[in-house]
Formats: sequence, C-alpha cells, structure tokens
Amino acid sequence: MPSEGGCERSQSLGGLVVISGPSGAGKTSICHALLERLPRALWSVSATTRVPRAGEIDGENYRFVSRDEFQRMRERGEFLESAEYIGQWYGTPALPIRAAVEAGQYVILEIDVQGGVQVAAKMPESVRIFVLPPTHETLVARLAGRKTESADQLKRRLAEADGEIAAARDSGCYDHYVVNDVLVDTVEEVLSIVRKEMKDT
Ligand code: 5GP
Repeated sequence: MPSEGGCERSQSLGGLVVISGPSGAGKTSICHALLERLPRALWSVSATTRVPRAGEIDGENYRFVSRDEFQRMRERGEFLESAEYIGQWYGTPALPIRAAVEAGQYVILEIDVQGGVQVAAKMPESVRIFVLPPTHETLVARLAGRKTESADQLKRRLAEADGEIAAARDSGCYDHYVVNDVLVDTVEEVLSIVRKEMKDT
C-alpha cells in the first residue's frame, strides 16, 4: 500500500526502523526475526511504567520504571519520543539510539502510533512500517491466546486497536502497511522493505 502523505521523507539513508501496529498484530515476533536476519540490527529497549509480564526481564524487554522516574526522564529530555498507552507510559531513550545510528547500526523500534509520529518528525529518514492483522477476529484470537493480559486489559487493548489503525492512516507517517497473516511471509515482506529502503543492509 502506498504512503498517504503528510510527513516528508528525507533522501538520506536511515538507521531507524519503526514497527507499529495494534496489540496482537505480531509486531514483537516480526522484530525478533528482523534482529536475527538483519546485520547490524539493534533492539531499542524502551522505558515503561507498566508492570513486567511473566518472563520479561528488566533491561532486556523494557526498562521498568516508576511513574516518578519516567516523569523525571521526560523532564530531563531523555526520550526521543514518549507516549501514554492505556494508562501506562512508554518511551524510547534518545542517546543510545543516536549513538547506534551514528555507529552505523540499524535500530528497531517497536512503538505505538503516537511514538511513530514523533519519530517521523524528528528522524524523517527512518523507515516506518505498520503491521495489520488479517481480520479483527484474528486479533481477538491472538490476544486472548497469548494469555498475558487480564480480561480488563484485553478489552482495553482490543478497544484501542481500531483507533490505532485509523490513527496510523490519518497520520500519514507510515510508509508501508503489511498484513501479518502467515508470519514467515510477513517477515520476508518486512525484510525486503527494509533492505530496499536501507540499500546497504
Ligand atoms: P506492550 O505493553 O504490549 O509491551 O506495549 C503496548 C504498546 O506500547 C505497543 O503498541 C508497543 O508497540 C508500544 N510501545 C512499546 N514501547 C514503546 C515506546 O518506547 N514508545 C511508544 N510510543 N510506544 C511503545
């Protein structure tokens, strides 16, 4: 699907890959595959105020911080972007990203649309990809199936999904939309987009 205008892309090669999409679309699986398959790829560890899920490791999946700490980090200007998603804060640390990009690495950011819009404004050379579920029913089944959310959280995330898809389209900041039906095929599609956009990967 073509980009829908709104945010200008610079001609320079970029080192930032933004992956967004509603909860349950399969972003994290796609990001893991990108990290394995792309040379010089690096995962950006976001800070968040949400509680860790079972198996999540502080400093690896996220840096889990209190609301006060997050607020202090924001005030100190430590984030490239930050956003509130269903009552919790999430933010991308600016320094490690800029350093990695300058060192020639490709940083993968799995962030929501509010964050994607901020990154598009600050780093227009980034590649921004939005992941869609094949159907709403698939999204419901995937979210319920992973059993990481309470019933209330699940409801809130599903309620957020349609708005997030509409917000992505309205923002005009996503260059590519991919439908994640069969994961291996989606990964190939995303890889080919990234390789094309960042010509020397
Ligand atoms: P989850 O709680 O499922 O890990 O993430 C919830 C949402 O927050 C997802 O859409 C995820 O992509 C987004 N997210 C994770 N880290 C960041 C971040 O640093 N900034 C922004 N804006 N969104 C993030």
